[in-house]
Amino acid sequence: MNEFELISRYFKRDAPSARLGVGDDAAIVRPTPGCDLHMSVDMLVEGRHFFSDVAPRALGHKTLAVNLSDMAAMGARARWALLSIALPKANEAWVSEFAAGFFALADVHGVELIGGDTTGGPLTLSVTILGEAPSGQALRRDAARTGDDIWVSGELGLGALAVRHRLGWLNVNDAELLAAATHKLEYPEPRLALGAAMLPLARAAADVSDGLLADLGHILAASGVAGEIWAEALPPLLEARRMEHIACLAAGGDDYELIFTAPPSRRADIEAAAQACGCRVSRIGRTLAGKGCALLDAEGRAVKLDKEGYDHFG
Ligand code: ADP
Ligand code: MG
Repeated sequence: MNEFELISRYFKRDAPSARLGVGDDAAIVRPTPGCDLHMSVDMLVEGRHFFSDVAPRALGHKTLAVNLSDMAAMGARARWALLSIALPKANEAWVSEFAAGFFALADVHGVELIGGDTTGGPLTLSVTILGEAPSGQALRRDAARTGDDIWVSGELGLGALAVRHRLGWLNVNDAELLAAATHKLEYPEPRLALGAAMLPLARAAADVSDGLLADLGHILAASGVAGEIWAEALPPLLEARRMEHIACLAAGGDDYELIFTAPPSRRADIEAAAQACGCRVSRIGRTLAGKGCALLDAEGRAVKLDKEGYDHFG
């Protein structure tokens, strides 16, 4: 099977909302009047972002999920995707499973694949995602103000726990917890509904991909404010009092949850909107004047971690 047969069998799908989808030299889309177009790209490299033996269906899901998460973090609606694949060989069974995982998630969120690129090479996946939000309303990283609440969605640290277990850095004895952690690592759920619901309520937002403190740090630095996080208020599945858990919770990465700030006057509205989306939210801290971010235990003492999240060049 050559490159063109592979593309037309597995990646050419109707894209009714685009003027032109897969098959020409470029796709053509018509942005909704009154909306700003949001664009982002994210790459997954074998051995760096996923284990070599991951199921191709899970990889198809995650390749799109990490990109949808960036749209969620802006409060944008995801519309169109371009998919670039480098594959060591044209393994049809593998591509078919990968495409099944990719399109299952795309269909849930009404995202259309409108183009891409396919080449031989070490297994690498990259999606360019296009989304929309009403003009000027996106949730940017630089919009937090002193005195905001800091919120996070879902559970944190599970993906990192699964990775660390797999690498032998720690041992998860609880089979149910390990299954939940592995599922979260392989099938993260981008928080698009929550992001959109926070558009009129939150000030600044980001998605948690490199670890809570690292990604919150980006919001704080861009906004010129400081923050404090209360370890005891972090989502409850992992225990903030256990050292190996607090490291996953606060600095693990691979969460694809949303971290956002909002004025305290919005608390009830945020709880109600999150409930309507079926997504847990936790109020985990607040912003202050100054710089940096402290992680505090129940007695208000600073909790020290080795690293504030995963740094690819650190
Ligand atoms: P070109 O040589 O003009 O770049 P290609 O042969 O790379 O064209 O691609 C042909 C068509 O197939 C284009 O419309 C391109 O967007 C699409 N395409 C290629 N690879 C993929 C893929 N992995 N997923 C979706 N569309 C793809
Ligand atoms: Mg090409």
